Parts: sequence; structure tokens; C-alpha cells
Amino acid sequence: MCATTFTPEMPDIIQLLPDSVANQIAAGEVIQRPASAVKELLENSIDAGSTSINVIIKDAGRTLIRITDNGCGMSPTDARMSFERHATSKIRKVNDLFSVRTFGFRGEALASVASIAHVEMKTKRAEDEAGTLLIIEGSEVKSQEASACPNGTTISVKNLFYNVPARRNFLKSNNVEMKHIIEEFQRSALAFPEIAFTLSHNGHELFHLSQSSTRQRIVGIFGHSYNEHLVPVKEDTSIINLGGFAGKPEFAKKTRGEQFFFVNRRFIKDAYLNHAVQSAYEQLLPQGSYPSYFLFIEIDPSKIDVNIHPTKTEIKFEEEKALYAIIRSAVKGALGQYSLGNSLDFDQEASFSIPAQPGQMPVKPSIKFNPEYNPFRPAAASSRPATSTRENWQEFYKGMAEALPGQTETFMDEKDLHAGSQVLQVNNSYIVYTTEKGIAVIDQQSAHEKILYEKFMDTFLKGTPASQQQLFPKALEFSASDSELLKEIEPQLRNLGFDIRAFGKNTFVVHGIPSHAPEGEEKQILESILEKYKENPGDLTGKNHETLAASLAKRLAVKRGTLLREEKMKAIAGGLFSCSNPQTSPSGRPVFVLLPYDELRKKFGN
Ligand code: ADP
Ligand code: MG
Repeated sequence: MCATTFTPEMPDIIQLLPDSVANQIAAGEVIQRPASAVKELLENSIDAGSTSINVIIKDAGRTLIRITDNGCGMSPTDARMSFERHATSKIRKVNDLFSVRTFGFRGEALASVASIAHVEMKTKRAEDEAGTLLIIEGSEVKSQEASACPNGTTISVKNLFYNVPARRNFLKSNNVEMKHIIEEFQRSALAFPEIAFTLSHNGHELFHLSQSSTRQRIVGIFGHSYNEHLVPVKEDTSIINLGGFAGKPEFAKKTRGEQFFFVNRRFIKDAYLNHAVQSAYEQLLPQGSYPSYFLFIEIDPSKIDVNIHPTKTEIKFEEEKALYAIIRSAVKGALGQYSLGNSLDFDQEASFSIPAQPGQMPVKPSIKFNPEYNPFRPAAASSRPATSTRENWQEFYKGMAEALPGQTETFMDEKDLHAGSQVLQVNNSYIVYTTEKGIAVIDQQSAHEKILYEKFMDTFLKGTPASQQQLFPKALEFSASDSELLKEIEPQLRNLGFDIRAFGKNTFVVHGIPSHAPEGEEKQILESILEKYKENPGDLTGKNHETLAASLAKRLAVKRGTLLREEKMKAIAGGLFSCSNPQTSPSGRPVFVLLPYDELRKKFGN
């Protein structure tokens, strides 16, 4: 209710917003960044029944996004109408909403894009003699004319956000924006293997995918190593039909990268269903590893509500619990079949291979396997038996720590550690260290983490990273989006001692790794850094070197449960006490507890 009393002299103040303004407001919701425009245009091309879609991007979509399809095209009138808000050919009545199978239906995308960019559309239906060329700038039609063009539609979006400086300034670096575009592209390409797709950026072709099976499509996108990673999943039930592939547990990664759910071919994010898959891998994966999966759910559209999120990556299911159970048991069953060697996959092609990229360096593939690896053994870090014969050590020291609050300040300095010190490892996790003044119990993992952290911070600050150059530089392949990220954080990685150089599309050659980093684990180390970065993008690009140093230290530190040799124990204890603040680890845990002999004497009444 309006507080002011109405008087006839006061003019009415409510007006309808001009279309261009309304469209811009809608655009704020629909088009957040270049990738959102790519997504909308791809969906339109797919809805138009295309069998071939080509995407051309310049400057990560800032200057140009051009999508060409060979779909149904539009009549001259429809071409003009398509840019009106709420103009759609996909629903006509409310009931249609419950059975939509197309991607679009709100009729907002083109109107939104046209309100914040310079748009050019060429379109022609097969049955028409001539096509239409339409030019629109900021919702204003500049020209519309007949034009000779192939069947299908080409939409060019130029200078996105030219009239919305706030949005433009808010965009991230080209690498990050391009990563988002690649992700959208991959989602569409995975869902529609029967459509041929290409994507190029600044004149370089990133993907060239011909019409194929789902398996071939996955391999075409993520590299041929995926061919042998995939276990087929199939389950038809009265609620859903489930199909697709789950990655073999041995190929699980440190990053959450390749996890895809599609519902009626629409990519969705769903933590609950993701959990269903993850739980099917229970006990098959070491902690902190993520399986890859590509799962396709077909469901009656009336049983889902796709309209609860404006960008539509979330879906509400009527029978969520049943779905969870079906997915979990189907994936579990598939993995079980595979482990028994029974996996039947008629789609698998024995001699499937992707031609090497021209100019690719001959790199010997290295295959590592651990003959002791047993996927059915619980992956607890401390499952190895303790070597100490004194089972009660641990209890003993726990009691000590409680009896000795806050005594860590000046108890020990470095010289104390070297005079005839003895070291003993207990429970494969703690180092007991004796000095002239007392006994220290050190958590080996936290201590090593602390030492490495300080070393990495030191190299950051000095700007002279210690790097071990590789005698045989190794080539590593990453997914296209991870590759964009790697390029983004390359300067930070260099500061840590990584010397990696982009080589070809998604391949990087590792010339050097930080000293302290074990050879052969380059890929896992880089993946865990990428995972960290994905969780918290701001952290690694800004000045915040601490996060990167901490995550690398955590990754490289010896773990609890690892048997250590005496020299290693001494190196850890010595290294720890030369740290500036040895009491707490980078993750905030206590690193050691102390028992001074004075205290010991008191306890015995000496
Ligand atoms: P929606 O997809 O929600 O219907 P859009 O604004 O994305 O809304 O598109 C409006 C209409 O323009 C669509 O309903 C469709 O009829 C037409 N259209 C858009 N893109 C294409 C295309 N690539 N080929 C054929 N028709 C298209
Ligand atoms: Mg649309």
C-alpha cells in the first residue's frame, strides 16, 4: 500500500518499461557471460533439428560468437519474430509446459542477446527460395533483407555487453571465459553425438567431432585414453531409462572434472544424484578421488520440473529417492560386472584410435600400475599394521599431551635436536624424538606439510623457485577446460617451480617440477591444484599464494600410515624446528606435543 493519500492533481507514475529495457533486465538473468549466449544458441540449433553445428569464437566471446547450423531455418516473418520477448515456437498452451522436450520454451534467449549485443542473423528454410538477413543492435532492428544463404541458420553475436559496461567489466580473463564456453560446448556435444560439432577459438580449431556413438563422442572430447576407461551402464525401469558410462575406479582422478548427468539430454547438476554415483564406488576409490561418469537419464517430462532455475541446470524430480537407488545400483552393478571381467559392451571398438595431431611430438606413453592395488580393500590411510611393539605408545603420549597444555613456546631450539637425538616412529604416524631437554611427539604428516609449505612460500617470496629439471620432459594430456585453467595459473605454477609449457591443443610438456615433488606424479599434483582452483577460483589467481603453497604442501607431504626410515624422520624433525612457527600446520592442526624432563621428574616425584 502506498503511504501517500491519492489526490487528483498528482500524475500517475506507473509506466510500462520500454521493450529494450525489459529485455536488458531479462538478459541479466539469462546471459551472464559469453558462455551463456553460446549455450542458448547451441540449444536453439539443436531444437531446430540440425545435424551439424559449427561454433566460432573470438576473444573468448567478447568480440564474436558465431553459430552456424543446418537446421530447419526460419521464414522471414519468424526471423523477425524470434527476437521478440516471449516469442517461441515451442509451446502454445500451458499444458505444453508439462511435456516439453525441447531446450528452449521461454522465448527469451534471442530477445535477451539482441538487447546487449550487435546481432546478425542469416536464416533460410529448405522450402524457401531466398533466406533472410537481419541486423539488430541493442534491440533495434537496423535492417532486414532477402539474402542468398544456405539452408539453416547462422547467428553472429558481436560485442557482447557493449551497452552494459558493468557486465563487461565483471568478465574474467579470456582463459576463464573460454573455459566456460568449452564446458557448455562439451555438454551439448556429449548429449548429441549424432550431431557433428566443431569449435574454434581465434582461428584455432579446438574440437572437430563427427557424428558418432556416445562412446566415440566421449573419446573425441576427452582423448583416446578414455576408450579403455569406460564401463557401460544400462538399466531400464518403469520410472527411468538409464544409460551411459562409468569410469573404471583405477582411472579416478584428483579433480572432479568429468562428471556428467543428462536428463532427457539436458545437462544437469545434482548433488544428490552425484552422491548416488559416488556411493556406488564406495571402497573402490582412495579418498579424495573422483570417478568420471557420463550418465543419461530418460524420463517422462511430466515427472520433472525443469523450470525452477533460470539457467536450467537444476531439475526437480518427483521420485528422487527411487532415482537415487536405481542409479546407485546400476552403477554398482556395472562396476561389479567389470571387475569380474564380464563387462559386455557391443559399442566398444577394439581398434578404435584417433589420428595423432599433426606435428605432435612422439612421446612414449608411460603406464604405471601398482600390483598391490586391491580395489576392494577399504582405502583407509592407517590400515597398515603399526611396526611398534609397544601398542600402548599412542595412549601413553595422548595422556602426556593433555597433561602439558601450552608448554611449547621456548622448549626446544634447533641445536637441541642434533645432540645425540634418538628417533622412533610409532603407529607409522608419529615421530618420537628425544632431546637434551625432553621428548617430542611429532605428527609426521602435519610436520612435513609445514616444512614444505614454508619452502614454497619462501620460493614465492624470493621469486627464485627451486625446480628440478626433467631429463625426459613428459607430455601430459588434460581436458580442454582444465587446459584453459592451467594456462590461467601458469605464472603461479612457475613461481612454485613448475616449468610446464603448452604444446598443441590440450597437451602440456612438463620440463621441471618443484624440488621436493616426487617424479612420476606430475599429473596428480597438477590435478589436485586444479581441483583446489575450481573450488575457489579467486584464491590462486590473486596474490593469495598461501592457498597454492598449502595445497601443494598437503599433496606432497608424507601421509600418516607411512613407514619412515630413520634419516627421513630426522630430516622431518630437524626441518620442522627450523620453521618460523612449528607449532601449527598450514591447515591449522597442532604439529607436535612435548614432554619436558622437568615435568617427567615432577610426575615421578624426583
Ligand atoms: P525459445 O528457444 O525459448 O523458444 P529463443 O529466444 O531462444 O526462445 O528463440 C525464439 C524462437 O526462434 C524459437 O522458438 C525458434 O522458433 C526460433 N529459433 C531460434 N534459433 C533458431 C535456429 N537456430 N533455427 C531455427 N529456429 C530458431
Ligand atoms: Mg532458445
